[in-house]
Amino acid sequence: MTRALLLALAQFAVPAAVLGAAFVLVFYSAALPPSLAGLKVYGPYIVFALGAALAIGFNRGRVVFALVVLAAAYGTQQLWLQEGLGTFPARVLYAALTVFVPLNLALLAVLPERGTFNRHGVLRLAVLVAQVGFTAWVVAASQTEIADWIYQKFLDPALFGAARMPQLGIAVIAASLLIAFVAAFVTRSAISASLVGAIAAFAVAAHVVTASTTFAIFTAAAELMVTIGMLQDAFRMAFRDELTGLPSRRALNERLMSLPRSYTVAMLDVDHFKQFNDTYGHDLGDQVLKMMASQIDGVGGGGKAFRYGGEEFMVLFPGKDADEVIPHLDALRKDIESYRLALRGADRPRKSKGGKRQRGGWRGKDSVSVTVSIGVAECSERHATPQAVIQAADRALYRAKDKGRNQVSR
Ligand code: GH3
Ligand code: MG
Ligand code: MG
Repeated sequence: MTRALLLALAQFAVPAAVLGAAFVLVFYSAALPPSLAGLKVYGPYIVFALGAALAIGFNRGRVVFALVVLAAAYGTQQLWLQEGLGTFPARVLYAALTVFVPLNLALLAVLPERGTFNRHGVLRLAVLVAQVGFTAWVVAASQTEIADWIYQKFLDPALFGAARMPQLGIAVIAASLLIAFVAAFVTRSAISASLVGAIAAFAVAAHVVTASTTFAIFTAAAELMVTIGMLQDAFRMAFRDELTGLPSRRALNERLMSLPRSYTVAMLDVDHFKQFNDTYGHDLGDQVLKMMASQIDGVGGGGKAFRYGGEEFMVLFPGKDADEVIPHLDALRKDIESYRLALRGADRPRKSKGGKRQRGGWRGKDSVSVTVSIGVAECSERHATPQAVIQAADRALYRAKDKGRNQVSR
């Protein structure tokens, strides 16, 4: 439980660090040498260009749009808000920024990734264009009633001190932060977590909207967070198995290069899993793999679990010999054997899926279970390299299968 909470909070480490760096930079921005003064003006555009180029290359539409929103906000500030909020157009544009920017960022934190240059991208772009169009119309047609409504005091103004921001904007920022936070918590996506940070950074920028350098620093910080979030997600995808969330074969291969002198390897393979798939369908098979992955991940004895491939898992026990880990593996085997996965109506194969799946007789059952066979081998003089230990574990696994499955063999 504590571990889960820590992992959830760790998602926000980078956004928090970038936000902190932005605050520090505000105080040192005056100390920039004149040759770098251009950064204060063009910084957000530079980060936008870098981030957008990467995001288009990675086909991360959510990041592309988040960057477009932030760069557009910065352009608006540069063109129309630096001089203050005294004029009607400036007041309207400011209100539009405080409402639309956080709202869009929160939406992007919630929406699924759908790429950039496709019909979903066109639709998302159309929503942005509609917001710009609406704002331009309010300005051009001097819609003072709409502006007054946005700026009205819903609550006692004393609560908000000297805030220039419309209360509606403050409310939208707070709601957007909450929405993005929940999205980051649920999806565990670094992009969603970075959008929480981006909304917070934008809130600071909006608060000081006429202080151009500070606005630029916090917009660039928001863009940087989202760009880094995308890289973090890409890294995670490379080293994590998507279905089970366990580290993948690639992560295992790296770990094998840095093992201590003594270690033990366990290979796990689900028994008769082909038959399970044929009987209950591939979707339920996937559910079983997820359930097993979380059980294997919780194995005692300091074991580290990987998805080796298909329905095969590997557990590494650094610094342990086979005698030490076998009791933990046997406990795991028993846990898996006694776990019952509930069958819901939807899980039961339908007639239209073909008669083959119905052979196994799922009728009348309301839960299913599986067993695993486990092969164990330790590093020794006979098996001195990780490859040799893995091969030995694989042979032990075959012995476990031969002897009747649902057992640990060495
Ligand atoms: P044994 O007890 O000898 O291990 O029998 P088995 O049927 O489990 O052995 P085999 O290796 O022939 O079959 C593995 C099956 O695992 C084949 C495939 O249908 C299934 N499988 C592999 N990866 C996945 C997956 O990601 N999801 C699902 N649902 N099934 C998978
Ligand atoms: Mg297999
Ligand atoms: Mg199998």
